Amino acid sequence: MASRNWGIIGGGIMGMTLAHRLSQAGHKATIFESAPEVGGLVSSWKMDDVEWDKFYHVILLSDFRTRNILKDIGLDDKIEWVETKTGFYINGKLYSMSDTIEFLKFPTLNLIDKFRLGLTIIVASKIKNWKKLEKIPVTQWLKKWSGNNTYNKIWLPLLRAKLGESYKKTSAVFIWATIQRLYGARRSGLKKEMFGFVIGGYKTVIQSFKKTLIDEGVIIKTNYTAKEVISSNNNKPQINFTNGLCEQFDEVIVTLPASIAAKLCTSLSAAEINRLNNIEYLGVICVAVLLDKPISNFYITNITDSEIPFTGIIEMSALVNKKYLGGKSLVYLPKYVVDKDPLFNEPDEAIKKYFINNFKKMYPWLTDDNIKFAGVARAKHVITVAKLDYSEMLQGVKTSMPHVYIVNTSHIKDGTLNVNETVKVAETKLEEILN
Ligand SMILES: Cc1cc2nc3c(=O)[nH]c(=O)nc-3n(C[C@H](O)[C@H](O)[C@H](O)COP(=O)(O)OP(=O)(O)OC[C@H]3O[C@@H](n4cnc5c(N)ncnc54)[C@H](O)[C@@H]3O)c2cc1C
Repeated sequence: MASRNWGIIGGGIMGMTLAHRLSQAGHKATIFESAPEVGGLVSSWKMDDVEWDKFYHVILLSDFRTRNILKDIGLDDKIEWVETKTGFYINGKLYSMSDTIEFLKFPTLNLIDKFRLGLTIIVASKIKNWKKLEKIPVTQWLKKWSGNNTYNKIWLPLLRAKLGESYKKTSAVFIWATIQRLYGARRSGLKKEMFGFVIGGYKTVIQSFKKTLIDEGVIIKTNYTAKEVISSNNNKPQINFTNGLCEQFDEVIVTLPASIAAKLCTSLSAAEINRLNNIEYLGVICVAVLLDKPISNFYITNITDSEIPFTGIIEMSALVNKKYLGGKSLVYLPKYVVDKDPLFNEPDEAIKKYFINNFKKMYPWLTDDNIKFAGVARAKHVITVAKLDYSEMLQGVKTSMPHVYIVNTSHIKDGTLNVNETVKVAETKLEEILN
């Protein structure tokens, strides 16, 4: 395609990657972001005297697309790789599950259950054709391979924690993709899985990415909220903004969640709007806590206890050296909920109290004196629910509006939500559009 002028709505990783690849291909690109800064879900905030991501982020050795972007923006030598440990909180007790011996010692499952759990992971990691799994409910697939006992004691609480009640309509692709991601490094020939982070967190990434884009000639307009995309008389799509301004482009890409894209693009067909509105999202409410000491040596503590309101505990400082966190420990307490969940209407103070009281139940030595900061981050559209036949129901990137495209994370059909998959969608869908 000859050089065109592109407008991109949304300045998250998706919008930034699209702009980067477009300008590398000789096109002009402008990003419009409603927030005062680009970054979206990878944005950072100040917690006491520490600035780090609002939501936790980790990079895997097998995240080759993310690592390519980091190379492009000059940060590939700023990643630190660490071997981390995983914990489980079951019936009020914490257990380590980081190696084979710990796995064999793991309580609540007998040897046969453990064998079947291990087998399920091996089977999932060997499957190449995920399309077949789209037709099978995740509950059915897990019960088949793991048996009822392991399903009820391990998988069901984990599914509930990650998907809320939406697990009932989720296909087996979800668990397949999760296992594939965790075993990706081994599949790709890397000896062991390690988790990585960029020194300074995603703030460093966004700053360098933004600088690279500006050097490439990309225009970034923040505090610009798109109100609608219309087809103008001269066949050029036009973006109208809430500040009363409007701009026309040769091509427009919307990177916002499906239902928002449906509202924004005014003359889509009823079938397109239906397909976009059919995509269900889970949101997240995440309490970040800064402590004066560590709580464990686990990066992730999975919680199978239904009494605890959050999904798990992510102890960022088990990965990130505390020297980058002002000597403190940083812990995230996330809860995944549907966007209509009443918890979204609760004030921050109530959520903090609810989460921290339960956090203290898990760690009875913890007092308010140990807590140096606690803050609530929320996002309503985070993970799409991978329902049965999900990929069949998706709206393609091309729309019936001339030169208007919708590219967002709902296009992740065979992966979990992460930056690497977001970059993959941006790169592959852009290739599709340009060809
Ligand atoms: C709790 C949590 C944990 C995660 N953990 C990891 C992890 O460990 N590793 C990993 O790789 N990934 C992780 N991710 C995923 C990662 O953050 C996402 O894959 C990625 O940030 C998605 O980028 P995006 O551009 O698609 O969406 P977004 O970041 O949501 O970008 C959309 C942008 O559009 C803007 N916008 C919205 N409406 C308008 C409008 N009308 N006009 C203009 N702009 C608008 C928004 O402000 C936003 O900046 C995690 C995410 C969450 C929430």
